[in-house]
Amino acid sequence: MCGIAIEASAFSPHRSALEDFMVRRGAELSARYPWIAEGPAWSRGVEWVPLLHARALPGGPVLAEVYAALKAEILERAGAAGHLDGVLLDLHGAMSVVGKHDAEADLAEALRAELGERVMVSASMDLHGNVSRRLAEAVDLITCYRTAPHVDTEETRERAARNLVTQLRRGAKPHKAWVSVPVLLAGERTSTRVDPAKGLYARVAEIADLDGVLDAALFIGYAWGDEPRCRAAVVLTGDDAELIRAEASRLACAVFAAREAFGFAAWAGSIEACLERAVAAPSRPYFISDSGDNPTAGGAGDVTYSLARLFEAPELARRALRVVYASIVDADAVRASTAVGVGGKVQVELGAKLAPSPEAPLWVEGVVTGLYRGDPVGGDVAVLTAGRIEVIVTSRRKPYHLVADFTDLGIDPMARDIIIVKIGYLEPELHAIAADWCLALTPGGVDQDLARLGHRHLDRPLFPLDEGGFEPDLTPKLW
Ligand SMILES: [Zn+2]
Repeated sequence: MCGIAIEASAFSPHRSALEDFMVRRGAELSARYPWIAEGPAWSRGVEWVPLLHARALPGGPVLAEVYAALKAEILERAGAAGHLDGVLLDLHGAMSVVGKHDAEADLAEALRAELGERVMVSASMDLHGNVSRRLAEAVDLITCYRTAPHVDTEETRERAARNLVTQLRRGAKPHKAWVSVPVLLAGERTSTRVDPAKGLYARVAEIADLDGVLDAALFIGYAWGDEPRCRAAVVLTGDDAELIRAEASRLACAVFAAREAFGFAAWAGSIEACLERAVAAPSRPYFISDSGDNPTAGGAGDVTYSLARLFEAPELARRALRVVYASIVDADAVRASTAVGVGGKVQVELGAKLAPSPEAPLWVEGVVTGLYRGDPVGGDVAVLTAGRIEVIVTSRRKPYHLVADFTDLGIDPMARDIIIVKIGYLEPELHAIAADWCLALTPGGVDQDLARLGHRHLDRPLFPLDEGGFEPDLTPKLW
């Protein structure tokens, strides 16, 4: 088992360094895969060898020397592991590396060169990964999540491992059908909670169940990379070459045909319009997603654009609404808050420090109403309250996905009127407690307005950047 898993925006000024990665080796890596301890029937008799796995929170491009060092250690451990029959390549699939394109294909090809053609390689990926022809060619099996938000991550890794073992026991490599689909879609338009993604992913599972098909994968791709491979892709594996070719082609055509129908999972508009909706909403709590600065997609997490608009919104103060802003990264502001303690007053210049930002740092005067030391993701965390607005400030980038993320800070989200989170579509726990929500189309490293980003390396034509009715060739490449 090995891999490097990160979703890295080419448009984020952040650079992902070694300290951004959780690097697992040995027993710690084996523990990532529950089936190894559980020992289901399909896994009996298999000796699982942990090499190295590095996983980071989404961010900016990985520093070239960090990628090179992780790759070198994986290859060294693979070479020293003795006889290997197969490799579980545990990836995300949207890793941007400074000065390099198609890092996942590079890693897969290097493993292939180290271990030889005989070894069976099974890749497990996020559906937001980009699958180039090179990557499809370098691996033998490849699969990805079938839900977004992702609630089948462990299931997917286990499927990739089970398919690997199944195929090794059969003693033959499967056929592969790969087809790239020239659509570039923001993840927020492709939630599997709603059509067309819902229906398309239901078909993926049906295709995977057909006789002669081992696995089916639909990659929506990652829109904030800037490489020719950024686009959707379909990959099918199985013994029936004709069947997987036909089904891959049908699924690719269905994705392309649906391209205009991918809408946002919630009402979407400017932050000003979202705040107006939130103020007028009949029930609470109302959530606004600050989607352009979503750290879980690669945003810096310290863009002040939405916070500045929040402080300027006159209706909020007039109606005495209780608002939570989750969150902004600023280690200096957290230190200043810690120094005065809970109940103390601070004046800080907040945010817009990690990188060039669409807005300047924001001058905030407030009372420290909460302090939380040593959050495993966010580090020390402070709550600054200005009027009826509570601003959560973290030392490191941290997504707010869970109710406990709020209650740990003494904030009961059910007792607030409006909650702004730097996120894309709401994660399941927040979705469950939200009376309603909307998506703010804000600037930042993962701006949803793709045309505004200025990609330079995409393979064109590509929907929606080239809307002039082009007819793509959706014939699968078959191996
Ligand atoms: Zn994803």
